[in-house]
Amino acid sequence: MYPLSEIKNLSVVHSQEVVRVRGRVFSKKDCGRVLFLIVRDGIDTLQAVLVKNTEGTPTHLSIEDYNLLRKIENESFIELTGQIYAAENPVLACSQQSIELAIMGYTVLSRSVLDLPITLKEAAITEEKKGKGASFDAVQYVKRLDNRVLDLRTDLAQAIFRINDGMLFYIQQYLRSRGFVEIKTPKLIGGASEGGADVFKVDYFGKPACLAQSPQLYKQMAIIGDFKRVFEVGPVFRAENSDTNRHLTEFIGVDLEMVIDQDYMEVVHLVYQLLVDLFQALNEKYKREISIVQSFFDVPALTFASELVVVPFPEAVVLLQAHGKARGALEDLSTEEERQLGAIVKEKYHTDLYVITRYPSPVRPFYTMVDPNDGRYTHAYDFMLRGAEILSGAQRIHDYTKLSQRVAELGIAPASIAHYLNAFKYGAPPHAGVGMGLERMLKYFLGLPDVRYSNLFPRDPKRLHP
Ligand code: ATP
Repeated sequence: MYPLSEIKNLSVVHSQEVVRVRGRVFSKKDCGRVLFLIVRDGIDTLQAVLVKNTEGTPTHLSIEDYNLLRKIENESFIELTGQIYAAENPVLACSQQSIELAIMGYTVLSRSVLDLPITLKEAAITEEKKGKGASFDAVQYVKRLDNRVLDLRTDLAQAIFRINDGMLFYIQQYLRSRGFVEIKTPKLIGGASEGGADVFKVDYFGKPACLAQSPQLYKQMAIIGDFKRVFEVGPVFRAENSDTNRHLTEFIGVDLEMVIDQDYMEVVHLVYQLLVDLFQALNEKYKREISIVQSFFDVPALTFASELVVVPFPEAVVLLQAHGKARGALEDLSTEEERQLGAIVKEKYHTDLYVITRYPSPVRPFYTMVDPNDGRYTHAYDFMLRGAEILSGAQRIHDYTKLSQRVAELGIAPASIAHYLNAFKYGAPPHAGVGMGLERMLKYFLGLPDVRYSNLFPRDPKRLHP
C-alpha cells in the first residue's frame, strides 16, 4: 500500500512518487476529456487530475470511474492514490500551486449529500465583500452557525481555531514556566459565584444550585490553600440576556490569581508581558492563518507598546471630558466610552493595548481591595485591546474582618458566601489576579467582527444548538 500523505506535507520534492491522500471534494471541473478535482484537507488544497480512458489514452481507471468522480458530491470524504508531478502552470486555485496529482485510484470513504445547506464557496462570501465596506451579512451568519460543522471546514474557521489552540498552548506554557499551577474549580455551585442575578439556575437533586459565573471565589480559596500562583482555563456561564458582538452566555475563562509581594502592579506587569509575548508569538507562528483571517476582514494591524501604558481611571475621565464627553467621575465606562478612550490612547501613546487602573469602588465587586488612601477608588484594573475590555482584575481584600465589613456595607447576605468568607478566618496572603475571556481576546486580537467566530459552538441568548 502506498504511504498516506498529508496534502500540506507534499511538494515538488515528491514528484514521481505515488502517494495516497485523503480529504474532501472541494470542487470539480470536467473538461470533457480531463477531470480536475480539488481535494481539501483543512486549509490545504491539491489539484488531482484524471484523463478519461478513451482510445489511445490508457489510464488506470475506467470511464465509469471517471463518471463517478465527475459527479461525486462536494464535501464527500475520499482517498485518492496517484502520482505527484510538477504543475506546468501554477495552480492558482489551490494552496499547493506547484504540484498536481495524477489520479490512479480512489476510494469514497464517506459520501456527502448533494444539497448542502451552505457551500464552502458561499461561506467564503465575506472575502468578496472585503474592502467594499459591507457589514457582515446577518442572515448568512446565522445560517453558518446553524450549520457549524460545515462552517468549521472553511479556511476562516480552520485558521481561527488553530490560532485559538496556539493561544491556549502559549498561555499555559507561559504561566507554568512562571510557577503557576493549573487548577480546575467546580462549575456546579451552591450559590451565585460572585453574587448578582446573571446566573443559570439548576436543580441539584431538589436543591437550588447554579452554574459558575467565574472561578473567582474558588481560585482565591486555592490561594488561601497555599498555592501561591494558580490559573484555570474553563467554562464560565453568564445568564446575561444581551445580544451583543462581544458577549456569550458560555465562554472559556482564563483566570489567574497570585500572591503579591508589594502591590497589585506586579500582576499587571506580568499579564502585560504575557500578552505582548503571546501576540508576538502568534504573529510569528501563525502567519498563514492570520493572513487568511485578514483576507476576510479589513482590520488594521495591531500595534502595542513594549512598555506598559497605564491610564488611571481619573485620568481616563479627564481625557474623555477633554474630548467633549460630559460624565460623572465615578460612573463605569460604557462600551462607547471604552471605544473612544481606545482611540484617544492610540493617538497619544500609539498602542492598541493598554491598562486602566484604579476603577471606582461602586463599580467593582465586593471582594475588590479599596484604595486605603482614597475610598472612592480601588486596586482594580482592566486591560483594553482595540478599544474594548479583554480582561479584568484586581487586588482582593485578604483580611477577614475587612472583607466581612465590606460584605455588610454592600448588603450581601454573609450566609450566601459563607464557605468563601470562612476561608479567610484562617489567614490569607495579599493576592491579586485577573479573569479574561478567551473568545473575547481572540476577537480583538484578530479584529473579528463578532465573538461568536471564536467559539466552536457558540451559546448566546438565542442559541443553544447545535
Ligand atoms: P463586560 O463589561 O464586557 O460585560 P464584565 O465586566 O462582566 O465584562 P468580567 O466579569 O470582569 O467581565 O469578566 C472578565 C472577562 O471575561 C472580560 O474582560 C471578558 O474578557 C470576559 N467576559 C465577560 N463576560 C463575557 C461574556 N458574556 N462573553 C464573553 N466574554 C466575557
